[in-house]
Amino acid sequence: MVTPLLDGFGRRHTDLRLSVTDRCNFRCTYCMPAEGMQFRPRSELLTYEEIERLTRLLVERYGITSIRLTGGEPTVRAHLPVLVAKLARLGVDLALTTNGATLGLVAGDLADAGLQRINISLDSLRRDRFAEITRRDGLADVLAGIDAAVAAGLSPVKINCVVAAGVNDDEVVDFAAFGRERGVTVRFIEFMPLDADGGWRPADVVSAEQIVERIDAVFPLEEAGGRGSAPAERWRYRDGAGEVGIIPTVTKAFCSTCDRIRLTADGQFRTCLFAHDEYDLRGALRGGADDDALAQIIEGAVTAKWAGHGIGTEQFIRPPRSMSQIGG
Ligand code: SAM
Ligand code: SF4
Repeated sequence: MVTPLLDGFGRRHTDLRLSVTDRCNFRCTYCMPAEGMQFRPRSELLTYEEIERLTRLLVERYGITSIRLTGGEPTVRAHLPVLVAKLARLGVDLALTTNGATLGLVAGDLADAGLQRINISLDSLRRDRFAEITRRDGLADVLAGIDAAVAAGLSPVKINCVVAAGVNDDEVVDFAAFGRERGVTVRFIEFMPLDADGGWRPADVVSAEQIVERIDAVFPLEEAGGRGSAPAERWRYRDGAGEVGIIPTVTKAFCSTCDRIRLTADGQFRTCLFAHDEYDLRGALRGGADDDALAQIIEGAVTAKWAGHGIGTEQFIRPPRSMSQIGG
């Protein structure tokens, strides 16, 4: 029998963000410091067998319906298709968020293993700027990766673009045109205070409203249904050329309908991207905990989940880990 994983506010949790590594082949300016990060030793990462055990518990006991693999960069973890095949057997909606750089090599294997959908991060369509943001001259690889994902039959292929003022906000309309031409949905993400350098300022955020306004001026838009518990606002081109999404985490937080839980690559359970508390499932697993003991930790964490992150309020304090360590 499935027990709904409810928090103290009655929110049911059905979506797991699962980080498989804190390593990355990029060092994006809004995510990692210039000098790179100190990565965790392999022994601290959950093995694929440990991940399988925890995800099976979450799916069978609590009815988790979707798992999104993330990182760091998930495709740098060795033999990722082996994990994808294990998770696909759980019968959940299975997706991957990636920087796309190695998809030309692995998209086919991931699709064959049972991956269904994919989100590819891309913040500039200009080679020089792309290299400045990611600190790697890899735009051509990512564009080839997008093609490889489409060719492998992954669907939908979505492009995630973090918009930051004075960095790439002059490309919003170019991205909209790119999505329309390629038949992929572009989702614009507001820049969040999770950069490793701690340089985020409210003025760096380009709001969802501003993004919609800029696109609408060139390609007229209309709303495409409600948000539900999904973070993205959906907009439709009036000429039928597809959709665009906006993820307004900062200006229109979706905390009141949040259905997410998170597991970091080193086995820490979190109930929010911005949470300060972590619950050590790896330690419990390796200490011999049975399923009921693991479930007790999970339920305790979810029961204690806060109402929301409070960005923009005086109470907001950045979490100690940055995005690449939590798993965006
Ligand atoms: N490496 C993969 C990638 O880049 O897609 C997965 C991990 S990455 C941390 C997940 C997402 O978080 C990416 O779409 C990335 O652009 C986004 N991200 C990273 N730092 C961010 C920040 N400070 N604000 C908003 N989004 C951020
Ligand atoms: Fe790596 Fe993704 Fe962070 Fe960029 S956003 S540094 S690709 S983890």
